[in-house]
Amino acid sequence: MTTVAVLGSTGSIGTQTLDVAASQPDEIEVVALGAGRDARLLAEQANRVRPGVVGVADPGAVAELRELLDPGIEVVAGIDELAELATLADVAVNGVVGFAGLPVTLAALRAGRRLALANKESLIAAGPVVRDARSTPGAELIPVDSEHCAIHQCLRANDDDRRLDRVVLTASGGPFRGRTTSELEKVDVAEALQHPTWSMGPKITVDSSTLMNKGLEVIEAHELFSVSYDRIDVVVHPQSIVHSMAEFSDGTTIAQLSMPDMRLPIGYALAYPDRITVAFGRMDWSMPMQLDFEPPDRATFRCLDLAYAAGRLGATAPAWLSAANEVAVEAFLEGRIAWPSIAEVVADALDRWDGSPAGSVEAVLAADEAGRRCATELLSQQPNQPVGGAVR
Ligand code: MG
Repeated sequence: MTTVAVLGSTGSIGTQTLDVAASQPDEIEVVALGAGRDARLLAEQANRVRPGVVGVADPGAVAELRELLDPGIEVVAGIDELAELATLADVAVNGVVGFAGLPVTLAALRAGRRLALANKESLIAAGPVVRDARSTPGAELIPVDSEHCAIHQCLRANDDDRRLDRVVLTASGGPFRGRTTSELEKVDVAEALQHPTWSMGPKITVDSSTLMNKGLEVIEAHELFSVSYDRIDVVVHPQSIVHSMAEFSDGTTIAQLSMPDMRLPIGYALAYPDRITVAFGRMDWSMPMQLDFEPPDRATFRCLDLAYAAGRLGATAPAWLSAANEVAVEAFLEGRIAWPSIAEVVADALDRWDGSPAGSVEAVLAADEAGRRCATELLSQQPNQPVGGAVR
């Protein structure tokens, strides 16, 4: 029996993790659930799953949570308390959205647990700090990002890392693939949230539309697999069936294929080195099918190269980039800026990066804050051109 703590349980990754756990009742036991502030859904999940403890980051949600919760389930509140839940199980699933997931990442690794990481921002922003935490005895990081899960699997086919030549990350291209810059000035929030192949939360879906998500994944791959930026490529693959590839010194490319379903990478991270016994996203090879590949349009989707640039700068540049991006995406989701302004704000913010090193959590927190401040200032200088369709 593997015990699992699910942090960010009310989000897209969290709810799908509970699906996977329910499919493996004899192998997986959910012992803790944590969420930001959605007391209603959290209580409903807890009453169904019966973990020993639930946590909520926002102390303002505790009263409602207690009222809705069946008796016998302990409640904790606060960001640090939520992160502590990550230490209570064999595996901590980090499905928290954005930089706020860093305490969960560090708590799980420092306690020597397996971290099933869907929160890429914590790894990207705090690469050097997370690297230290990963050296804790027993600590293990298994990515819950379809591309990195694919690479993780491709590398299992090879017992000699030195023979790895390149990592090729696939990108669906998002909802705006093939559009021109002038067409993209008019797109609204609803269109950006219409992902062609994946069903995900709003932040990552907007990141997919700008290719920032792929850029962040390039940094994520660099951190996870210690591959230099010159050896990480991105190829657009609209069907989202080849989830990524590894290329070896003899010209062999190994790829992982499945239908786009996040429950597969979640199940992989929970069961590794074994596999879960229920198939999510199994291919149907009896049907005709076409797989297309094309290079990304780097001029129109600037965020991809902005992320490469931040990754190559290193230190707190990725933290700064990711923070500025969170602020810009939030402004877009609220209808305060047009879609092309996301890349403009991030580019200008990265230009203003202060060059600070990333040796400690404090340094990373300071860079995150400064990156947000910088982006907020830049936003106030952007022409206010609401395009309608704001969510939240
Ligand atoms: Mg991904």
